[in-house]
Amino acid sequence: MQYVTLNTGTQMPQLGFGVYQIPEKETERIVSQAIKTGYRHIDTAQYYRNEVGVGQAIKASGLPRENFFITTKLATSGYRATKAQIVQALKNLQTDYIDLMLIHWVVSDYEGTYQALQEAYQAGQLKAIGLSNFNQEQIKGILAKFSVKPAVLQNEMHVFQQQVAMRQFCHENDIQFESWAPFGEGKENIFNHPLLTTIGSQYHKTAAQVILRFLLQEGVVAIPKSANSERMKENFEVFDFELSAKDMEAIRQLDRGHGLFGWNE
Ligand code: NAD
Repeated sequence: MQYVTLNTGTQMPQLGFGVYQIPEKETERIVSQAIKTGYRHIDTAQYYRNEVGVGQAIKASGLPRENFFITTKLATSGYRATKAQIVQALKNLQTDYIDLMLIHWVVSDYEGTYQALQEAYQAGQLKAIGLSNFNQEQIKGILAKFSVKPAVLQNEMHVFQQQVAMRQFCHENDIQFESWAPFGEGKENIFNHPLLTTIGSQYHKTAAQVILRFLLQEGVVAIPKSANSERMKENFEVFDFELSAKDMEAIRQLDRGHGLFGWNE
């Protein structure tokens, strides 16, 4: 595993496992399989309604809590609702701290939400706090108003939406960029893209592995999702090869400069 160091000083595994659209009753089984495969960084959310299954899988693994990096995200708006949801998330995940909590998207009172996150960070309940689906203006507002900087920005990023300007902005502000939907959820026939499969064949790797390797080499955190144990394994086997500078440059040319899901941050 490779790690990035957050502006809090803590380490975050650069490859994680996303659990969006995994039904609550299947989450414990699927996350347990991911843990067996080697994943220690799990990305869930209040909105996914599967935090409980993630917590059960981590407990059932028998591994120490500190071996894991758990991210969850808030769908609450405002200070009071967020305070309550942080307590609920700790309970759902059966833990006394969460490694990273994000505001999932821009809610009406996101400053009140952030205030509650900052206090929970200062109290040690959250080891890092951050944002998801925010634009530069909104992030600048947070940076100006709060003493605790966001550690992470999780926005859509994949080979068709490379977020060049946003990543530069994050770099300048010491915020770690994290990609959601690293495969664009399979849209645009991404797993059969001729450039990606051709590059992959040189390294005996699949298009999926090339995509993840590209993100890792760009310095981004990636959280691919798969409910299938073979694909979980395939997506984890990305630390034994390195894309050449020429291949990286060729993949950079796939950027369209806009997303596939209608997010306009
Ligand atoms: P993804 O880009 O990870 O794609 C998942 C799809 O790709 C699944 O249908 C899976 O079957 C398929 N797939 C996975 N590995 C494959 C492989 N090796 N070969 C062929 N097909 C493969 O999509 P996602 O789940 O939307 O995104 C990943 C994670 O990002 C989510 O689970 C979630 O944790 C997070 N996310 C966050 C937000 C946000 O608003 N913050 C939005 C979307 C996703």
